Amino acid sequence: MQETGGLGSDHLVNWTAAGELRPVPGGTDDAWLCLNIDATVPLTCQRCLEPVDVALTVDRAFRFVADEETAAAQDDDCEEDLLALSRDFDLAALVEDEMLMALPLVPMHDTCPVHVKLAVADEAFGAEAMAKPHPFAVLAPLKGDKSS
Ligand SMILES: [Zn+2]
Repeated sequence: MQETGGLGSDHLVNWTAAGELRPVPGGTDDAWLCLNIDATVPLTCQRCLEPVDVALTVDRAFRFVADEETAAAQDDDCEEDLLALSRDFDLAALVEDEMLMALPLVPMHDTCPVHVKLAVADEAFGAEAMAKPHPFAVLAPLKGDKSS
């Protein structure tokens, strides 16, 4: 299955979701969902502020439980993620959530393509400081008027 997710043709999101029944000793089989996501997401590099393509991979297994209450009750006791069985289960929303969680907090190039950006930023900062008139400079014309 392939979904472009509105990210444009250059940024495909490939994902697969596979259902699986795992036998439980002395009980009914557990239903599991294995989710694999392989995507490239365009973000902004936080170091040079240029666009950066970030590769995302998600490989997770979820176990279905009867309802939200069961999920909440068991959530602390098991390592896997739990999903409540529901007729309107939204797989696309789950894929989206998992991708959002896999996004880096601070996206960055491994090696930024531009290295002069910081110098330019410093120059602009300096120019701004120079342009701001010194408080006493504003008073100078008044002083001049008084002496004449
Ligand atoms: Zn960068």
